[in-house]
Amino acid sequence: MNKELRAQLESTTQHFKPSTKITILTGAGMSAESGIPTFRGKGGLWEKYDPEECATAEAMRERPWRVWEMHDELRQVLARHKPNPGHFAIAQLEELFENLVVITQNVDNYHQDAGSTRVLEMHGNAWRVRCTAEDRSWMDKTVPYPKLPPKCQCGADLRPDVVFFNEQLDRDVLNSAFGETVKADVFLVIGTSYVVVPAAYLPLMAKENGAVLININTEPTDIAAFADISILGRAGEILPKLVKMLKGKFGI
Ligand code: NAD
Repeated sequence: MNKELRAQLESTTQHFKPSTKITILTGAGMSAESGIPTFRGKGGLWEKYDPEECATAEAMRERPWRVWEMHDELRQVLARHKPNPGHFAIAQLEELFENLVVITQNVDNYHQDAGSTRVLEMHGNAWRVRCTAEDRSWMDKTVPYPKLPPKCQCGADLRPDVVFFNEQLDRDVLNSAFGETVKADVFLVIGTSYVVVPAAYLPLMAKENGAVLININTEPTDIAAFADISILGRAGEILPKLVKMLKGKFGI
């Protein structure tokens, strides 16, 4: 580990006590090392589909097969890959700090697959489906679907239970995310670009409510301007190092 990174991680650990309230916000960069490309970084799936065209309420009404074509392929990609050491490090943090919640913009379920139990999914979950006629949703890991679009038992089309581009976020999830943000002593922002709202509001909201703001990203982002500590690097490399240092600090 280079000197600068060691110094940054050491100053980060100063802010952690076992009773510290920790809120972690993750974006697509969190899963990049799992092999799931970010939208802005493009590559793979997003060369073939424009999510802003295939993931809208209008597309779901007018071209449900097209929405599902992209979504079914996304599910196949997710099934072929798995959580990376960064996801596992966050799950380990939950064992060290009982007051820890993850707010994720990702739909891949990798935090839960790695063992995190307190996860707020701001943009839904790619493995959950919702009936377009009845108000009910459930996890369905069928992949690939034999016929698109998949149907509910009632005969109506199913839709992916993710938030489409022009849709509102779930009010309860959003309120919980705001609540976890304003209560935070330490707010960690990992692999998110500070562009997608309302998630982008959360870091500043945390800071204004007294949290220490720590940012981990491979690129400089606007969050760096007001973060207390900004670490340039890959989540899958930095987070296991942070956990190791914290375990050392707590004598575990
Ligand atoms: P985003 O706006 O959150 O940007 C990704 C950020 O991650 C960038 O700032 C990039 O510099 C950073 N990054 C890339 N690799 C990294 C790494 N290894 N470690 C740390 N940081 C890294 O995300 P987006 O791609 O513009 O997508 C917007 C939304 O689309 C997301 O918020 C999410 O809802 C959805 N999305 C989800 C997934 C998924 O579920 N895995 C993947 C792509 C997009």
